[in-house]
Amino acid sequence: MALIVQKYGGTSVGSVDRIQAVAQRVCKTVKAGNSVVVVVSAMGKTTDGLVKLAADISANPSRREMDMLLSTGEQVSIALLSMALQEIGQPAISMTGAQVGIVTEGEYTRARILNIETKRLEKCLQQGKVIVVAGFQGVTNTGELEITTLGRGGSDTSAVALAAALRADFCEIYTDVPGILTTDPRLVPEAQLIDEITCDEMLELASLGAKVLHPRAVEIARNYGVPLVVRSSWTDQPGTWVTAPDRSGRSLINLELARPVDGVRFDTNQARVAFLRIPDKPGIAAHFFGEIASQDIDVDLIIQSIHKGNTNDIAFTVLKPILKQAEAVATAIAPVLCSHPSREGEEAEVMVQQNIAKVSIAGAGMIGRPGVAAKMFIALADAEVNIQMISTSEVKVSCVIDSADCDKAVAVLSQAFEIDSVTSQSDISITSPSPDSPPVRGVALDMKQARLAIRHVPDRPGTAARIFGLLADHNVSVDMIIQSQRCHVIDGVPTRDIAFTVTGMDAEAAQKLLQQNAITSGWREVVLDNAIAKVSIVGAGMLGQPGVAAKMFEALAQHNINIQMITTSEIKISCVVNESQGVQALQVIHAAFGLAGSEQIQIPA
Ligand code: ASP
Ligand code: MG
Repeated sequence: MALIVQKYGGTSVGSVDRIQAVAQRVCKTVKAGNSVVVVVSAMGKTTDGLVKLAADISANPSRREMDMLLSTGEQVSIALLSMALQEIGQPAISMTGAQVGIVTEGEYTRARILNIETKRLEKCLQQGKVIVVAGFQGVTNTGELEITTLGRGGSDTSAVALAAALRADFCEIYTDVPGILTTDPRLVPEAQLIDEITCDEMLELASLGAKVLHPRAVEIARNYGVPLVVRSSWTDQPGTWVTAPDRSGRSLINLELARPVDGVRFDTNQARVAFLRIPDKPGIAAHFFGEIASQDIDVDLIIQSIHKGNTNDIAFTVLKPILKQAEAVATAIAPVLCSHPSREGEEAEVMVQQNIAKVSIAGAGMIGRPGVAAKMFIALADAEVNIQMISTSEVKVSCVIDSADCDKAVAVLSQAFEIDSVTSQSDISITSPSPDSPPVRGVALDMKQARLAIRHVPDRPGTAARIFGLLADHNVSVDMIIQSQRCHVIDGVPTRDIAFTVTGMDAEAAQKLLQQNAITSGWREVVLDNAIAKVSIVGAGMLGQPGVAAKMFEALAQHNINIQMITTSEIKISCVVNESQGVQALQVIHAAFGLAGSEQIQIPA
């Protein structure tokens, strides 16, 4: 006998027939000997309809009244489902978020859950009742009992948080698709169902998976070790299991707010190889990393930055023992790649640096919280640590620094994020992939990003802190961050370029903000490019497997797609390409990793 939380999305409860079908499924689960808590969304497109009503009255409605309005959608569906259950003889009771005691902060329209009372729920479960809870809503406990909502798509979050608070055996997310797919089936008809994926992989695929499973729900599942399954409510197919490491010890207080970062890691056994001034044309990264892979050399971080003119820099890190080998490949290949130097004095150059260390912060709480990365850069700046390379992903920020600064950096980061145990890279694995996990689990395309490049940023401690602190203060989330390898000396000051991506919506405001601060902060122009696309491959199985990056770059090269930027984390590789080639890039990469299936998955429009 298990305790199961089931969540049904809007389409699954979109009509009376469907509500009755859901009641049957819930009843069947109870008959099989389980206790069930059900979380439901509003029927069909109810919430959209309510948003529209508000817009017809006010261009800028009060956020408090929006929550009062939007929370009504779920109140309809819980009552109806509860009646449908009672009608087929299953004792049931519906409850709003406030009645359960889903306590949130007071941020209307985007509240985070602080804690969940479980007493009343447990009592009802003991009485053999199914509890039908309104998703997406909560209540403040500041005495005023204000109704809040968690933000659009928030009922996934309600469900997983309830599962964590009740220590349920697992949480089932019922939706109108069969599970998580290897990529977007509207762009790649050969996309197929993934049987199993880890929470970390799922978070890295946020832009792909978000339509099916809200990233905040995955964060909670990861932090509290709640196993999740995403399944279709029309069939009995097993769906996709989203697995989490066992974390049952974590405190349930400040459930969604505590500890956005839960690990600090370092690795002093790395060295860096940088390739400066190589031609900016398709096939270069493929050629080089293909050569590296053919020698079985495993690279860790890869970063490619853009430059004015038509040359690029690529830098990567490898474990020290294989540095000599990597350097030899780089030196041998440089003249081949650059047979036509773009200008006199612009020849390619290979630069090797041994005395480096990588420090990283990791945690599920960074998505949508721009202050987290900024806090890392500020802590390093305060300790006078200069950052040489930055690489970011959804669940991790890594900085390459001088190895002499490593102890100091780890100490200040642990203090800043209140982490008491620090691991050195060599004895951890972020997600232990099962032995048969494929190197690449899924491929995502993000067409909504824009790229900003800041030219000639002074190369000294504190500049990254300044830039990303400014952006964080204005609530701009940054995605990929890349600091160039090349140094330009301007008026005696060494400078580098820093490029990063933000959502297109934020791009112009971010550009303006940075431009306004250019003179006081010492950097030059800020260049914006809206016509970009980001393609990413994600898979825990790529850990320690040489050649995965090379294969991705090769697929792009074969189709003459130029790579503008590259960043990697342990389980993800992202490339920025021209917007017009985004979809093709997605298709050829998906095919290159053999992810295509022969069975076409039916997706409702
Ligand atoms: N009904 C809310 C929405 O449409 C919450 C949800 O469905 O998850 O955003
Ligand atoms: Mg949803």
